[in-house]
Amino acid sequence: MMDISLQQIYQAKKRIAPYVTRTPLVRAHALSERCDAEIWCKLETLQPTGAFKLRGATNAILRLSEEQRKHGVVAVSTGNHGRGVAYAAREQGVRAVICLSELVPKNKVDAIKSLGADVRVVGSSQDEAEIEANRLTAVEELVPISPFDHPDVIAGQGTIGLELLEDFPELDCVVVPLSGGGLIGGIAVALKAVSKDIRVIGVTMENGPAMVLSLEAGKPVAVEEEESLADSLGGGIGLDNRYTFELVRELVDQTLLVSEKEIAQAMSYVFETQKFVLEGGAAVGVAALLAKKLEVRGQNAALVYSGNNIATDTLRKVLESA
Ligand SMILES: *Cc1c(COP(=O)(O)O)cnc(C)c1O
Repeated sequence: MMDISLQQIYQAKKRIAPYVTRTPLVRAHALSERCDAEIWCKLETLQPTGAFKLRGATNAILRLSEEQRKHGVVAVSTGNHGRGVAYAAREQGVRAVICLSELVPKNKVDAIKSLGADVRVVGSSQDEAEIEANRLTAVEELVPISPFDHPDVIAGQGTIGLELLEDFPELDCVVVPLSGGGLIGGIAVALKAVSKDIRVIGVTMENGPAMVLSLEAGKPVAVEEEESLADSLGGGIGLDNRYTFELVRELVDQTLLVSEKEIAQAMSYVFETQKFVLEGGAAVGVAALLAKKLEVRGQNAALVYSGNNIATDTLRKVLESA
């Protein structure tokens, strides 16, 4: 994919290094035994914002021109991107406006507000929040930072791929939560540049899997946004998608869907066996393995634990239902 190069990802790595955490990769012992494989987890949950999106947001903000910095930035988000942008903007002394829909959990809204960002809660879908962001872009000359469909964001997320290669060069496959495709797209560019044989697998939820439906249709399609434990995977890929649809179509080997029940079971399993808290969107890879929708027997597999921003109430309910 010519739009995002391995070189851009290396440049992003150097650029963002002072501001993001170089996260560890740890072995999932119980899961490895259960699947008869070597399974390791990339702990993006340890980012200061609790999710990997800080990488892309930081890279995009550090790439602003002097003029753009003065205007400030605007982002639409299911929560984690907004928090990443708000955090990075504060670090760099740039104004940030974050547009959220009413579906975004309160814990995420509060976290974004506490970073000093100007928060607008509008409508009941990502699309409605997007309309407000477009209005602000025009009226206040704010610079839009897409949560996924932006070369600097994709390159920032791709730095995870570089770290996986450093820590686990024997890697056979990587399992990545999939929504807009910035995370998996960036990782795939990095991994496939090194070896076409490393399989890149995207997992998302059955409730509104925008990228998977778009791949099936052969073009970006709109989805009905539904409530899900994987709230961070909600929303469409944009009907005018410029980068991630092609990236995913070209570089991702397989996509899988998991149910709400499978996501809840995976969250409980990770809590029980690793004592890690994952938000629903981060647990879909484990869900696919536990549900035997994905076979990794005898392989070296990495899972991206993409975030842990879950409301305490939701976590309690999930653990009690297990
Ligand atoms: C945004 C997000 C994803 C998906 O990333 P995309 O680039 O939109 O595919 C996965 N997990 C978490 C926790 C997220 O916040």
